[in-house]
Amino acid sequence: MGSLFLGSFVAGQSLPARREPKIAFLGRSNVGKSSLINFLTRSQIARVSKTPGRTRLLNLFVVDDRMIFGDFPGYGFAKVSKQERAQWQELIDRFLTRDNFQYAVHIVDSRHPGLEMDLQLQDWLHRRNIPHIMVLNKSDKLNQKERAKADREARNAFPGQPLLFVSTVSKEGKGELEKILQNISEEQYQKIAEASL
Ligand code: GDP
Repeated sequence: MGSLFLGSFVAGQSLPARREPKIAFLGRSNVGKSSLINFLTRSQIARVSKTPGRTRLLNLFVVDDRMIFGDFPGYGFAKVSKQERAQWQELIDRFLTRDNFQYAVHIVDSRHPGLEMDLQLQDWLHRRNIPHIMVLNKSDKLNQKERAKADREARNAFPGQPLLFVSTVSKEGKGELEKILQNISEEQYQKIAEASL
């Protein structure tokens, strides 16, 4: 058991064919994707692979021999060219819309729910029918009043969307998120086992 770094990939490059369920971690730059992956894998794996100048790469990890985690380049750079946006889209299309099962964890800063880029990503996930959860990250930074406000705003911005407050500092939401990912992995393995009977 443990986590293994599969490699970094750019748009246009073919991704390794794997049968494990694929979980994409998506969110704006600096929202805490890598920290969350480290937290869930109880390792420093995402940090280690994130070297300066390589921020536009998709980093893939095999987790406990059961899932593939994809740490996507952050979107929402102040100035992103059309070409960069198209490349990001190509990467996510390649990872998420090929063959076996996929799931996305959309990470949003709980202090700023409902930003345009996040609305666009939600729209895209819905249009593609990609099952996902929205994680409201850095919840430790909110006091009670701010949290109630964030909850209200997120529910308004993303009606009907499952939401989970998470913090890698206070460890809020860790158990729930782990459970969700474990269930996904078990369900998929069950299906694979049934299909090969
Ligand atoms: P990424 O660019 O989305 O991969 O973001 P990182 O994982 O590198 O995190 C960006 C910054 O946010 C770092 O300084 C982290 O220490 C900080 N951070 C990440 N998660 C949390 C959290 O849950 N709470 C707090 N307070 N800070 C966090």
